[in-house]
Amino acid sequence: MTALLAAERTTLSLLPAPLLRTLPAAVAENVRRVRVGTDARIMAVVKADGYGHGAVAVARAAVGAGAEWLGVTDVAEAVALREAGLTEPILSWLNPAGVDAVEAAAHGVDIAVGSVEELRRLVVDADSPLRVHLHLDTGMSREGCPLDDWPELLRVARQGRGRVEIVGVMGHLPCADEGDPRANEAAVLRMRQARDAVLRAGFGPLLVHLAATAGALTDPATHFDLVRIGAGIVGIDPSESIALTGASRFTASVVHSSSVPAGTPIGYGGTHLTTRPTGLAVIGVGYADGIPREVGEGASVEIGGARHPLVGRVSMDQIVVDTGDALFPRGTTATVFGPEAGAVPSVQEWARWAGTIPHTIVTRVGARVQRSIA
Ligand SMILES: *Cc1c(COP(=O)(O)O)cnc(C)c1O
Repeated sequence: MTALLAAERTTLSLLPAPLLRTLPAAVAENVRRVRVGTDARIMAVVKADGYGHGAVAVARAAVGAGAEWLGVTDVAEAVALREAGLTEPILSWLNPAGVDAVEAAAHGVDIAVGSVEELRRLVVDADSPLRVHLHLDTGMSREGCPLDDWPELLRVARQGRGRVEIVGVMGHLPCADEGDPRANEAAVLRMRQARDAVLRAGFGPLLVHLAATAGALTDPATHFDLVRIGAGIVGIDPSESIALTGASRFTASVVHSSSVPAGTPIGYGGTHLTTRPTGLAVIGVGYADGIPREVGEGASVEIGGARHPLVGRVSMDQIVVDTGDALFPRGTTATVFGPEAGAVPSVQEWARWAGTIPHTIVTRVGARVQRSIA
């Protein structure tokens, strides 16, 4: 029986080791970096489970570092933050049809509204005053109400007084990651027009907000009253203008090591043949855990203080790395990515290897990877 138990343990240890974090310190550092560049208030955007880092943990750390607002894309995400004891103002946008106005108001959650139809629905549904931010289409044709529809939007808002309370105007920059102020001019102008229309219609005071991380870091004209920081909070600067601090470390362990001769095929399809006698380490993480299957040349992990390249295809549960002259015993920790640079690959490097953006690397870390806060 004992042997069987050991076998079961072996299977379990194929799962990646904990995704260890230096999260609160990194988040606090990133909030401070944003703070020094703006007079606006800071909203920590913790949608998609805090960009894969854990919404409650990221929210707590951001609030602890002085973020005044929290942002999500679903009332359920907001309620989870309330249940975790967070009392800061929360805004939810991109809400699905049928958003529960009563629940939102009961939990003190502000709702962003991007169409006349949505506002009409909320006016009907709300039973106590629901705080609403009118969401302008600033040039993306995603969520957001085109400026042409604002007269009607404001008419509905006036009729709905007492049921909906207009407290904010929001937009989103179409060239959010360009870091080029000229790219934002049209959106800034439209924001001002929308704000002025809302004020003329007799609403106010208003919280006006347009910028996400890139705008907050590169273009003060986009800051208005509040900046919404998601990627930046977890250490990703889409504008690549300043160095932020990575908030997660993804580790896994060596599950198998071997020495192989030159000409040995590795993995599915034998797409890689060793060119010399070398050591291999199998690491227990694969695309089910968030390792992009699309990675090209250069992808590597850190083991024993050095980088070792991935060889062969990424499998669902494992990757193989070429460790050269070194052989690492089973159980050795490999770091997939982390904040320390040097031998440890960064999230940004993984994004380049996979031809994607860093956001997708952190938000796709799989469900079976244990999360722990360091
Ligand atoms: C996701 C999101 C943000 C945060 O963007 P980052 O670039 O991750 O900071 C801000 N505003 C809106 C409307 C969003 O959907």
